[in-house]
Amino acid sequence: MIITMKKNAPDSEMHAIIENLEGMGLKVTLIQGADYNVFGVVGDTTRVDEKLIAANPHVDHVARVAAPFKKANRLFHPQDTIVDVAGVKVGGQENVVVIGGPCSVEGEEPLLEIAKGVKEAGGAMLRGGAYKPRTSPYAFQGMGSEGILCMVKAREKYGLPIVSELMSESKLPEFEEYVDLIQVGARNMQNFDLLKALGKSTKPVLLKRGLSNTIEEWIMAAEYIMAGGNENVIMCERGIRTFEKYTRNTLDLSVIPILKEKTHLPIIIDPSHATGDSKLVESMSLAAIAAGADGLIIEVHNNPKCAWSDGAQSLTPPAFAQVIEKGRKIAQVIGRDI
Ligand code: PEP
Ligand code: MN
Repeated sequence: MIITMKKNAPDSEMHAIIENLEGMGLKVTLIQGADYNVFGVVGDTTRVDEKLIAANPHVDHVARVAAPFKKANRLFHPQDTIVDVAGVKVGGQENVVVIGGPCSVEGEEPLLEIAKGVKEAGGAMLRGGAYKPRTSPYAFQGMGSEGILCMVKAREKYGLPIVSELMSESKLPEFEEYVDLIQVGARNMQNFDLLKALGKSTKPVLLKRGLSNTIEEWIMAAEYIMAGGNENVIMCERGIRTFEKYTRNTLDLSVIPILKEKTHLPIIIDPSHATGDSKLVESMSLAAIAAGADGLIIEVHNNPKCAWSDGAQSLTPPAFAQVIEKGRKIAQVIGRDI
């Protein structure tokens, strides 16, 4: 961290800042110039509130050199993290993992049919929401525990690990018992109590990017889970809110190389929520694989027109199979496979 003091800042102010930082175990070096005095601060600066220092009227400028995240930081963990989800490996250089399934679980029979399609297409995991974060309180809220049990049946029948969204810490024991990969939805990305609870869990977590969150805020959300001791975090970009109206959200594919550089965590793309339109899902899936994504999570429904949620962005099983077939070719070009 570099702190530049204003011209003629009183010595007493400079000493107060130095004392405070040294009290936090940091090493402070003063560089005295003709016009400005500059401090170089080294050590673990993650606990320093740079805005508080910058608010001092005698401070001209504060610049952070180190990122505020440690556990997720590629600098301290150069090798890729590979998250093992009930035997399916997510991350690393070789595999691209494709997850498919309905937005909401709608009952055992319909789910088993979709799971069959996902399995036959080459999908590696089954997704299905049982607790749904709906914008309207009058919309279908999900089947709850019954939906989770339908997912368990589908796993038994098709051997696909299951992914479902956890909205409340109170349901964590249920998810720890039944679910293989716990999804934190975009709306809960900064639900810090939920993140802390997941930090104490040993289950892998799929952490979606918040609707309007920066990449750094998203990595800091992962840091919450990792700081609690759970390092099995998979990041998921699902589009962010912009002024654009032709798509539901704006898919930010640049996060793939950025996260790969800044962190060691796997990153997967959700082209369904990112676009809101089934017609756009295939092209964005292929682009994501080409850009180096470690996987995709795609909404699949046997009859999208009648889906209880997100039908407009859901693929039929044959369309999902085609994404995997074409995606595999792209993956092979960059030395990976699906
Ligand atoms: C979902 O996966 O169905 C979902 C609600 O996703 P998001 O949190 O990205 O909106
Ligand atoms: Mn959905």
